[in-house]
Amino acid sequence: MPREKVTVVEVGLRDGLQMLPKTMPTANKVAWLEAERASGVQHFEAASFVPPKLLPQMADAAAVVRHAKRHSDLMVSALVPNLKGALAAMEAGVDMLVVPVSASEGHSRANVRRTPDEMVMEVRRICEARDGTNRSTKIYTGVATAFGCTIQGGVSEDEVVRIASGCVEAGADEIGLADTVGYANPVQVRRLFDKVKKAVGARINSAHFHDTRGTGLANVVAALNSGIRSFDASLGGLGGCPYAPGASGNIATEDLVFMLEAMGLDTGIRLDGLIEAQRTLSTLLPGQTFYGKVAAAGVPKNHMS
Ligand code: ZN
Repeated sequence: MPREKVTVVEVGLRDGLQMLPKTMPTANKVAWLEAERASGVQHFEAASFVPPKLLPQMADAAAVVRHAKRHSDLMVSALVPNLKGALAAMEAGVDMLVVPVSASEGHSRANVRRTPDEMVMEVRRICEARDGTNRSTKIYTGVATAFGCTIQGGVSEDEVVRIASGCVEAGADEIGLADTVGYANPVQVRRLFDKVKKAVGARINSAHFHDTRGTGLANVVAALNSGIRSFDASLGGLGGCPYAPGASGNIATEDLVFMLEAMGLDTGIRLDGLIEAQRTLSTLLPGQTFYGKVAAAGVPKNHMS
């Protein structure tokens, strides 16, 4: 029987690197991407199209995307906070725009100086701009701080459902929920994904979890049980948490792939190749702290992938 497929999206080149104080040279980003592609990773969130003044780490976004797109089999997405970034990302040739829309008003104002509803309007403008070209670029909205927020604490589930529905009405092709600060637990994850699914149907298909408090992979299982089949992760858990210095950030790609494959799901990724890629990344970032367990523990003898 063919195994059920699950997509693993490597977001380290965006979510991982944006935390680092030192800018990674383009050649090293490319070396990272190539090492990970060799293990079978097919989808990369490769950059963020923001003003270089705000985030010098992402000044080479277009160059990284262009390199990645030399491989026609790769799905390449990029984060865009606004229409201007969306136009630049489409020009660079991305397959998918990732537009973050925070469900927390406090987080949204602090991050992009806009309310959540103003960001939904921006999603609409981005969809209209895409429709005005003959490009087939997909538009994905990640509902950020869906499970809680460091600024306002709790985020109402009704508000998450309202924002997610607003994004779909605005034209988003796909949406996902993100635990931006690592507050989520599996019971909450299952409940909220089910609620949003009830409101928007199959368009919700992805989850973004941080492992800040050790619940990252447990939350993946909860989302799997809600029918979600696409997960973001960062090689070596690179990134950390902007709101909790010293804490870990995204779930580690190698831990995620190990767990999914061991559960009988098909990621298309070879675990030994991924661990090799993690070693390559650690040589590119000497002195950097990495998170995740599998790279240190190794591939178990009964693992098949
Ligand atoms: Zn994140």
